[in-house]
Formats: sequence, C-alpha cells, structure tokens
Amino acid sequence: MYQVLILITVITLVYLIARSARKPKANISEKSSEMVKCKNCDLNIPKSEAVQSGENWFCSEAHKD
Ligand SMILES: [Zn+2]
Repeated sequence: MYQVLILITVITLVYLIARSARKPKANISEKSSEMVKCKNCDLNIPKSEAVQSGENWFCSEAHKD
C-alpha cells in the first residue's frame, strides 16, 4: 500500500515540475510572436523576423534605409 502512495507522490511531483518547467518556454514563445510595424510600409510582422534600427522596426533590410 505504501508503494502505491509513493508512486502517486512521485507522479504528482514529476507532473508539477514538468508544468513549471514549461511555463518559461511559453513566455518566450509569446515574446517572439509579438508583432511590430514596419516604419516604411506599415506591414505588421513578428518581432523575431523584424529588423531593428534604433527605436524603429522594419520588415526587411531593404526597408531599413
Ligand atoms: Zn516594410
């Protein structure tokens, strides 16, 4: 009987650790999917794909100039 209780405790702990470990990852993916607007053509693109120049964002290197 004690073995079953230990097994349940271990499974619960593993589940909680896996759940808390997944949280920061979700935050990172939320950040990378943040949208910015190209200053040149007003196109909305994910920040991860955008080109930054100072405080301004651009959809590509070509629009940076
Ligand atoms: Zn653009």
